[in-house]
Amino acid sequence: MGRIRPILHPRAHDYGFLIRRWRTAARKRGLRFVPYASASGYELFYAITRRPAAGRPWIYLSAGIHGDEPATTEACLEWVTSTGLPRDDINLMVFPCLNPWGLVNNRRDDAEGRDLNRTYHDDAVPQTAAHKAALGKLRFDLALALHEDYDARGVYIYETRGPAPYLAEELLSAASRHLPIDPRRSIEGRSSRAGVIRRTITRDMMPEHPEAFVLFFHHTERALTLETPSEAHIDARVAGHVAMIERAVQLRLEISCP
Ligand SMILES: [Zn+2]
Repeated sequence: MGRIRPILHPRAHDYGFLIRRWRTAARKRGLRFVPYASASGYELFYAITRRPAAGRPWIYLSAGIHGDEPATTEACLEWVTSTGLPRDDINLMVFPCLNPWGLVNNRRDDAEGRDLNRTYHDDAVPQTAAHKAALGKLRFDLALALHEDYDARGVYIYETRGPAPYLAEELLSAASRHLPIDPRRSIEGRSSRAGVIRRTITRDMMPEHPEAFVLFFHHTERALTLETPSEAHIDARVAGHVAMIERAVQLRLEISCP
C-alpha cells in the first residue's frame, strides 16, 4: 500500500485557531488586526497595513465568505506569513474570514441561512453592512476575493471588465503548477475560456449583489474572484490560491511601475 500523504491543515475549520495565528502574523508583519463586527457569537476582524504609505498600491484580499471553502482562509494567512511582509511596496487590507459560523460548521451560508455573498445590496444584513462600513471610502488598486467550488474541474477566475491589462490568464498560469485549469466552456451558466470568465458588471445584472459588485462599484477597477476546485487536495488548493495572490501582486506592481 502506498504512503498516504498527511493533511497539513487538519484544523482548517477551527476559527479560534485561525484568529490566534492571525494575531501572531499581524504583529510580526506590520499589520493592525482590527475587530469590526460580531455575528453568531464570533468576532470578525480585518488586518490592515499599520503605516500605509502614499504611492504604494493598495491590495485587498478576502476569504471565507462561504464557510465550506477552507482553503481560502488558510491561503490568505499562508500568503501573509510567507510573502515577506512588511514590504515597502504595497499597502494591504485583508478580511481573513467573512463568515466564521460557516467556517466552523463547514457551511456555505451563515447561521441565519443566508448566502452572505448575495447580500451586499442589503444594509439590513449586519455582517455585510459592517464589512461595507469598514471599507469606507478606501480605493484599491487590486481586489481579490477567494472562493472554492464543488463543481469545478479545476481552477478558474471571474475578472471584471475594466482597464487593460487583464490578469486572470497569468494568475491561472501561476496556479497551474498546483491545480488543473477548468476546461469547461460554460461555468455557472457563463461562457468561460481556459478558466477565465471576464464580464462587464452592471448594477441591475443581478438583484442580489455579491461582494465583488460592491468592490467594483465603489472600491476598485480590478476585482477578481478566484475559484479553486473543492475536491482537489487542500494543500494543492491552498498552494494554488497563494500562487495566484503572489502573481497578482507582482503584476499589479508592474502596472504601477512600467
Ligand atoms: Zn464561494
